Amino acid sequence: MNHDGVISSMDETVDLVLNVETPLGPIRGRINVEKGPMGLADLVPLALQLTDLLEGRAVQQAAKEGRAVSCRAGCGACCRQMVPLSPPEAFYLMDMIDSFPAESRQTVLGRFDTIVTELERHNLIEPLLFNEYSDDIAMAAAKVYFSLQQPCPFLVDESCSIHAYRPVACREFNVTSPAAWCADPFQNEVEKIHMPLPLSAPLARLTGRLAGSEVRLIPLTLAPRWVAANGELRERHWPGLDLFVDFMNEIGKKDITDTENQV
Ligand code: SF4
Repeated sequence: MNHDGVISSMDETVDLVLNVETPLGPIRGRINVEKGPMGLADLVPLALQLTDLLEGRAVQQAAKEGRAVSCRAGCGACCRQMVPLSPPEAFYLMDMIDSFPAESRQTVLGRFDTIVTELERHNLIEPLLFNEYSDDIAMAAAKVYFSLQQPCPFLVDESCSIHAYRPVACREFNVTSPAAWCADPFQNEVEKIHMPLPLSAPLARLTGRLAGSEVRLIPLTLAPRWVAANGELRERHWPGLDLFVDFMNEIGKKDITDTENQV
């Protein structure tokens, strides 16, 4: 990754030209970045935009190889899996829920509570939120989690009710095997379109570095609980340009966590 340079600068924002090398080809374009204070959640819209761009390329590449995406509107099979969020995505999600009208907010948080009660009954909270994070622990928990068949709190009529705001992991989950196989992804060999640069990984690494904490992903359904326990980090702000450049530098590094562990 390199920044070709600053092309204009106003008092509150700076206009940059980007040239980001990725395994799916370069990302080139202009971007306007806040110079003023930014929190971790403020990086998420950019991460979602970049994810859509890279996902589009990965899907195109698969199509050229004769592998078409079999996901269809109204199929919510994958929305019963444990969806991993980077910490900035968890903050972003809670900011979104906080912006809902009171009644919708209460309804959605009620759905979270129902799932958390189930997770408590199966002793999943401790390994997922408080133990040292590892991909093996997350995978084992993901299997138990899936067996509980709890629909995501945002799944309405088998469709995503926050489609435009859905997390990185949901955007990256595209299968080419028969859609029916997703009803039991631990028994069937579900074929996913490989995403070589899952952007929740650099967001998680950046958080770990800035907070001086371990690098971890958080199950979507435990986001309210995790965010409540990390209120100080949610409120922390950094100079916007520094935070943006830090994030871009993380994208250029080797991945150390992998959202492919969603299943
Ligand atoms: S956020 Fe949307 S796409 Fe992701 S698991 Fe929930 S309902 Fe499904």
